[in-house]
Amino acid sequence: MTTLEKDKKYLIQCYTTDDVVFTEGNGMYMYDEAGKKYLDFSGQFSACTLGHGNEEMIEALKEQLEKLVSVTSCFATEERASLAEKMIEISPEGLDKVMFGCTGSDANEFALKMAKYYRGGGRIISFRRGFHGSTAGAAAATGKSEMIQENSGISELLPRGFVHSAPPYCYHCDFGKEPKTCGLQCLKYLEQTMLHEGGDRIAAVISEPIFAAGGVIVPPEGFWKGVRELCDKYGALLIFDEVVTGIGQTGTMFACQYEGVTPDILVTGKGLTGGYVPGSAILCRKEIGDAMSEINLHGHTHSCYPLTCRSALKNLEIIERENLVENSREVGEYLHEKLLALQEKYDVIKDVRGRGLLQGIEIEGNLNADKYVLGQEFYETMLRNGLITELESRKNLENVVIVMHPALIASCENVDEAVEIIDKSLHTCLK
Ligand code: PLP
Repeated sequence: MTTLEKDKKYLIQCYTTDDVVFTEGNGMYMYDEAGKKYLDFSGQFSACTLGHGNEEMIEALKEQLEKLVSVTSCFATEERASLAEKMIEISPEGLDKVMFGCTGSDANEFALKMAKYYRGGGRIISFRRGFHGSTAGAAAATGKSEMIQENSGISELLPRGFVHSAPPYCYHCDFGKEPKTCGLQCLKYLEQTMLHEGGDRIAAVISEPIFAAGGVIVPPEGFWKGVRELCDKYGALLIFDEVVTGIGQTGTMFACQYEGVTPDILVTGKGLTGGYVPGSAILCRKEIGDAMSEINLHGHTHSCYPLTCRSALKNLEIIERENLVENSREVGEYLHEKLLALQEKYDVIKDVRGRGLLQGIEIEGNLNADKYVLGQEFYETMLRNGLITELESRKNLENVVIVMHPALIASCENVDEAVEIIDKSLHTCLK
């Protein structure tokens, strides 16, 4: 049996998998079984900050493996204390406590638990098209209906008390408004939702600062400042899920720093460890963290795994030393310009949006009533042509979004190569 046959036969295929088996990675590139080279513009969903096969990271992990690996979250280690200190140093002012997790989902779960405990219960408000993970609370907060499988029985596992508000999605405004004259209708709708759901009894509003998996939705200027004010007005906590946008992906260490809006709780994952070891972190205001310390009610066996902490420390050290956050901003701007130029050439590219090295192009793709013919074909053609991206598509929506969040080490030459493949692939698909 081939690797792919074995995989299909024995593995529960939770994700739609492409028929590619990767065997090696080096910098911005990955290689399949046949030795074919691919430019990785998915950054493995933004986890792979340093690219593949970073020697310095591998050495650090080897050292850690020899020193100490298996310690449960019950004990302090030098690695976790140092990472805690570092996380507070790089995070927005006002976030003074941190806890670590294994995945973005469990970190969001903890954030929701903290909000509920600190506020003594109350509803959680999130946004349609937001994505927060696969565990119960995180899935309930997720505003992508197909993830919840409404009629499958799975929805019975989801906790109640989650409400979804209208997303700040200017290209497909729920209110049919134009950005310049909308008066931030989505913000007004959020306030109505908060009032309707209990006013000062809301536990938290949770969102990604830029909705990544929902199609790189960049909220309009003033939206987050307005949300912060609403949360303060009604006493709700603001949780930013920076699992994708954090650790430099959008050109600042955290996306909320660009906005100048500090949440009460900030969650990060994926890129925290450079993708070399699973890991996530939850930062919060001191009072919230202290309240959670008192009840001693959360943790996983590997919450503060020394290997996770060591890889995050090394990752952050390299990111700072090599100015990779600045690189993300500069190369991201270059990528954005190049994609805008491509939009001039192709009518089917309806929108180009993003910040730093998180960029998306919205493609008019619903050529056939319920199948994304163009979007799917375009994505697969790019893959065949050696470019890895992420396809965001939804049965009941007419457009698809090609999402790109390459490693922070990406160069302008990498962008040129990627854009050439995008251009060539789209040209082939439209013929
Ligand atoms: N939050 C966001 C914004 C995500 O995009 C994801 C995963 O894609 C998660 C949370 C869940 O992270 P994980 O897959 O590590 O559980």
